[in-house]
Amino acid sequence: MLRAVPLALTLLVCLAAPLESATLAPADLKTAAALRERALKGTEAWETVASLSTEVGPRLAGSEGDRAAVAWALDRMKAAGLANVRTQDVMVPQWVRGSIAVSILEPWPQHLVATALGGSVGTPEEGIEADVVQVPDIEALRALTRSEVEGKIVFINRRMERTRDGTGYGQAVVGRTQGANAAAPLGALAVVIRSIATGSERFAHTGTVTYRIDIPRIPAVALAAADADVLERQVATGKPVRLSLKLGSRDLPQVRSANVIGEIPGSDAAGEIVLLGAHLDSWDLGTGALDDGAGVAIVMEAARLVLEMKLNPRRTLRVVLYANEEFGLSGANVYANLGPEDLARHVLAMEADLGAGPVWRLDSRVADDALPMVHAIAGALEPIGVEVGKNTMEGGSDIGPLRRQGVPVLSLQHDAARYFDYHHTLNDTLDKVDRKALDQSVAAYAVAAYLAANAPADFGRLPPQPQQAPAPATAPAARR
Ligand SMILES: [Zn+2]
Repeated sequence: MLRAVPLALTLLVCLAAPLESATLAPADLKTAAALRERALKGTEAWETVASLSTEVGPRLAGSEGDRAAVAWALDRMKAAGLANVRTQDVMVPQWVRGSIAVSILEPWPQHLVATALGGSVGTPEEGIEADVVQVPDIEALRALTRSEVEGKIVFINRRMERTRDGTGYGQAVVGRTQGANAAAPLGALAVVIRSIATGSERFAHTGTVTYRIDIPRIPAVALAAADADVLERQVATGKPVRLSLKLGSRDLPQVRSANVIGEIPGSDAAGEIVLLGAHLDSWDLGTGALDDGAGVAIVMEAARLVLEMKLNPRRTLRVVLYANEEFGLSGANVYANLGPEDLARHVLAMEADLGAGPVWRLDSRVADDALPMVHAIAGALEPIGVEVGKNTMEGGSDIGPLRRQGVPVLSLQHDAARYFDYHHTLNDTLDKVDRKALDQSVAAYAVAAYLAANAPADFGRLPPQPQQAPAPATAPAARR
C-alpha cells in the first residue's frame, strides 16, 4: 500500500523545486479550487447516467443499443456546448449471447444459474454432457495432464478478493480470459468458471473470453457464486459429477460503430491535447450504469463544468467516448493509430472506467521531471480525500494504446470495493450510482484535467512499450 503524501510535504516539494516551470501557477490552483467547490455543490452527472441508462440502456458493441448510444452521445456533447463534436468510424465485432442451460446431472441433479462469457462459441444444438474436473485456478489447470482433462468440462473455481483498488480482479480475471486456451489443448470440451466477482447474489458475471487463433475454441461460461458453491460441494463428496451444458452463443459479421469525440479548444496552446476518456459500449445484461455510464457522465460533466465556468484552458480538452472497450478495445486501437505529429500533440490522457465510487487516489505515469506537477494536482484534490499514489500506473484499457506509445497518463482511482458485486451483470443499473460520490468524482476529474491543461510544462514522454496486437473479432483482448 502506498502512503499518502501530506499536503504540507507536497507544498514543500513544490516550493523547493528548482524550476518554476515544474509547478502550477497559484492562480490556476485557485481556479481549480473554485471548480472543485462548484462540482461538490451538485452536478448533472447523475442525470447523464440516468439518461443513458433509461433512453439507451444496454449497448453491446454492434447492437441497436450501440448505434443508439452513438447518437445519444453526439446530441449530449452538442447540448453541453462542446466544440468539434464528431464521430470516428470503428469496425466492431458482433456477438450474440443466445440461450443457456447448465445442469448438474449426477450425483444430485440441479439447474445452475450461468451466463456465457463474451465471445464464447456455442455448443452443438444437443449440448454437451461430460464429467467435471475442478481446479482452484488456471495455474492448477496448466499443471494437469491430458488424461486428467480429455473429454471433460473444466471447472475453474477461483475466488476473487475484495479490494478497494480493484487489484483482486486483475489477479482472478486470467481464469476467465485464458481458461479456454489452457483447457482446450488438454482435450477439454468446455470451461465453466466461478464468476469473477465479489458479490454473492444469484446472477452470473460475464466478460470476455480470449481465444488464441492456434487453439480450438471451446464454450466458456460463468456460474453465479452460489451455483459455483453447489458444484463445489458436490465435487467435494468425491463422487463423479456430470454436467450438461447447452449454449446458443454465436458470432455475426463485423459492423460499423464509432468513437464519439468533442472538445473545449485551448487558448494559447490549442494544438496540445489533454484527453479525457470513457467507453460508450456496455455488456448486454444490465444497463451499463456503472460500466461505463458513470465514466461517460464523469468526463462529459467535467468538461461541461469547465465550459460553464468559462475557464478557457490553455490546452485543448478532448473528451473521447470509445467504441467497444468490453469486447476488444476496438475504439481505443483505432483512436491511437495516429501519425507521429498527432501523437506528439497528446500531452496527457486520463480515463474513467472503474465505476461510480468516490475517487481516493491519484496514480500516474509521467516523466520524473513532471512529478511535482502531479503532486500539486493531488494537493488540489486533497480536500476531497484524494491521496498521491504510484507513478507506475498500468491500468486504463482505453488509453493503454496511447500510453504504450509514450503518452503520459493520470489515473484517478475510484473506490472499487463494491464495484465487482455488480460488474458485467444484469444488476449493473442506475440505482447503484450514488449522486454525491459521482459529484466528487466529477470534481476530481475536472480539477485534474483543468490543471493539466493549464500546466506550465508538459508531462514529458514515456519510453515506448510494445503494443498489444489489435484483437481480431473472434479473439477479444483481455480487459478490465
Ligand atoms: Zn468498463
